[in-house]
Amino acid sequence: MIKVLQEKLDFVKKTLHDAESYEHACRVLNFDQETICPAEGMEEQGEVRAFLSNKAFELYKQPEFIADTEYLYQHKEELEDPLDRILADNLHREYLKTKNITPKMDHEFALIYNKAFVNWVNAKQKSDYTLFAPALEKVRDIELKKIALRENSLPGTYDNLLDDYERGMTADALDKIFDACKKRLVPLLKKITESKKKIRTDFMTRPVTDEQQKQMAQYLLETTGFDFKRGSFTTTEHPFTDGLGCNDVRVTTHYYQNMFSSSMFSIIHECGHALFEMHQPKEDWEHYINGEKTMGMHESVSRFYENRIGRSKAFINLIYNKTKQIFPEVMHDVSSQELYEALNVVRPSLVRTEADEFTYTLHIIIRYELEKLIVSGKVTIGDLPGLWNETYEKYLGIRPQNDKEGILQDVHWSSGFGYFPTYALGNMYNAMYYDTMSRDFDIEQAVLNGDFSKINGWMKEHVWKNANRETPKEWLLEITGRDFSAEPYLDYLEKKYTALYDIGK
Ligand SMILES: [Zn+2]
Repeated sequence: MIKVLQEKLDFVKKTLHDAESYEHACRVLNFDQETICPAEGMEEQGEVRAFLSNKAFELYKQPEFIADTEYLYQHKEELEDPLDRILADNLHREYLKTKNITPKMDHEFALIYNKAFVNWVNAKQKSDYTLFAPALEKVRDIELKKIALRENSLPGTYDNLLDDYERGMTADALDKIFDACKKRLVPLLKKITESKKKIRTDFMTRPVTDEQQKQMAQYLLETTGFDFKRGSFTTTEHPFTDGLGCNDVRVTTHYYQNMFSSSMFSIIHECGHALFEMHQPKEDWEHYINGEKTMGMHESVSRFYENRIGRSKAFINLIYNKTKQIFPEVMHDVSSQELYEALNVVRPSLVRTEADEFTYTLHIIIRYELEKLIVSGKVTIGDLPGLWNETYEKYLGIRPQNDKEGILQDVHWSSGFGYFPTYALGNMYNAMYYDTMSRDFDIEQAVLNGDFSKINGWMKEHVWKNANRETPKEWLLEITGRDFSAEPYLDYLEKKYTALYDIGK
């Protein structure tokens, strides 16, 4: 490689290294804020975080840094290391996206999102959408403005929003995918709700202590292969996972006294995210491309562990004795089959985060359809609550009685649009690679044996290795040999739930 190119690459990497140090510190502060920071300490900590984050922003906006990243992009073919070529592509894409956004505008946008968040919290508390609507209108306007400012914007408005979270995915493709889902899931849901099958759920609300739930979380993390030398866990309000560094991945959960399953499945879900982070190739960190995997890829892994593994009969059999040991008051008169059925019961509900595996996708489709209408200008912000309620009735057969359990339930719209579909895509991606994995070995037997090294080993080799280096489309094709399709996911749901509800018998 010619000397000048090497020098520019070295300078870019040195800058990224410095920026990463600030960002690493921000992640630690953020984790602290979400977990044990006292309420009165939050504001000063927030200021420190804003200061450090601004330091990183300044480094990225240095003219030499921009000039050198563009030079790397133009001389990409001369870069010897393929990971450096990926880095050059990423930096160029980011540059075009934010080139016309000045620090002043960036600050203005941040204030609008922040105000929308504050208004959403207040509106949700009072269950009054009108307190959020003006802020939501401003969010929509700046989302559209940001798209107009992009040098590399895509023709479809919604495609730009989607592309930020799921590179290469388009609204056209999603329309087809979600139509296929509606065609198969809506009629089947009707059959399920009309089914005579009785699933016992009385024991699901029996009380357990925080201490018992902590023991269970520890057991589940150990069972699924969480590496405690490079990770830790604690509690929070809304569970999340944070990859703070290459060797520091933290998961969180919450404990509800009368809902022991909530913590169990949130910890398995977050453990999936953590395993993904823990098994990144080290070179991806060294080449500053570690953050390139998409939200859909990440959700595919967390939902693989939570649903495909965690809610399977084999997994319930594996953990059954331990649940009796840790939760004796709950489990003394419950069979393994009863626990399996209760953990998979289908009940159309209003709140997405409490939705069962079967109806989950319908919640996402509703949000997706409304988001498209919002950004296309086909509806006014004032029309939304009515549309929300109508769509719930149409797809799930239930209607929210107020804004809190309806349109105001999720925080996401205070920070923009395009994120929700990745949740549904995650389920579809993992259905595809589950089928591929099952051709290599008997997954259920491995789960029954508690042999997670086999499952995680396969994931590392096939799923985790190239996630930062490929688009979701390329990644899926490489893992499964097939183009993306929702069919494997729909086949799986149909098979599992027709059996569970004795449909067609
Ligand atoms: Zn997740």
